[in-house]
Amino acid sequence: MDYEEIIDRIIKSTGIDRKVLETKINAKIKELDNLVSRDGAAHIISNELSVSLIDSDASKDYANIENLVSGLRNVIVLGRAVDIYPITKYEKDGKELQVGALSLSDGTGFVRVVFWNDNIEIFKNIKEGDVLKVINAYVKENKFGKLELHVSFRTKIRINPEDVDSKSIPSASEVQRKNERIDLVEIKRDMNVRVLGIIVQVFKSNCFFNVCPECKKSVKMDNGIFMCASHGKVVPEKKMRVSFVLDDGTANIRCTSFGRDAEEVLGIATGEAVKLADKNEDSAFPVEQVKDVIIGAEVIIYGRTQFNTFSNSVEIITNKVIRNIDYERELGTLINEVQYGDKS
Ligand SMILES: [Zn+2]
Repeated sequence: MDYEEIIDRIIKSTGIDRKVLETKINAKIKELDNLVSRDGAAHIISNELSVSLIDSDASKDYANIENLVSGLRNVIVLGRAVDIYPITKYEKDGKELQVGALSLSDGTGFVRVVFWNDNIEIFKNIKEGDVLKVINAYVKENKFGKLELHVSFRTKIRINPEDVDSKSIPSASEVQRKNERIDLVEIKRDMNVRVLGIIVQVFKSNCFFNVCPECKKSVKMDNGIFMCASHGKVVPEKKMRVSFVLDDGTANIRCTSFGRDAEEVLGIATGEAVKLADKNEDSAFPVEQVKDVIIGAEVIIYGRTQFNTFSNSVEIITNKVIRNIDYERELGTLINEVQYGDKS
């Protein structure tokens, strides 16, 4: 696509005045110290204006969020921005850097989409509830073992694309279902809630339970044998569980997380936790090991409240946990990877 074609496409898609557009392109060339060609600058501007120039835009070959795996490149994901987190700013080598992140859902799962400096302008244009077509992003596991979709210079983001029936993607409120943002002081039993708070305590206890490998239901040992009500004698799989106290400034509450949620809270994958526990002959060791890092961590939790007759208080069983990630602490590896590693 040559310069004129690019210009044409941008004008058609945005209705921008040609003179204004060319001024923008010239300004971009200056901004980049004349290191970029006129075509190159036009490409950058088209990206900033979310105008599609490449054919993969037309692709309907979407990856389901639940099927994403670390290391995938050039994936196309269609989903809805269900949570948008504030931009984090910091300095590195005297330069100001910014990171923005949002939670994207297509109904099959959630994935955090991470925007770095060069793409922060696009990020700022995204509102909660927008449908996003993310083209050519790459999938990366963060240090908590959670997958993230990273937006690189090659990625195109289409906001509310016209070729997509937005009704085919669950709305943000459907995704968050009845979960309402709530202050802990107002919490009652049997509510679906969404709380932003700080973990102030983690209970040191056995962080594993056994489940049937077929139906994933919890199984108990009886005379040395694990029995599943549906599948009989089984060799169980281990799943994680962790209980902690969440404080949002108005009150605090005990929360319990299982499986992936527990992995997110503890920042450790089940397999790794099993190894740690075995090595130290202590099924609570993984909790002890990471306790100092977890206490003080900010999390957003989705869950259902229930009344615990034993403790005589309301608690939350989580069904989604998002740890607010301190990207600054991850910078060393991430920045380098984004800026240099992705060009391979
Ligand atoms: Zn079973």
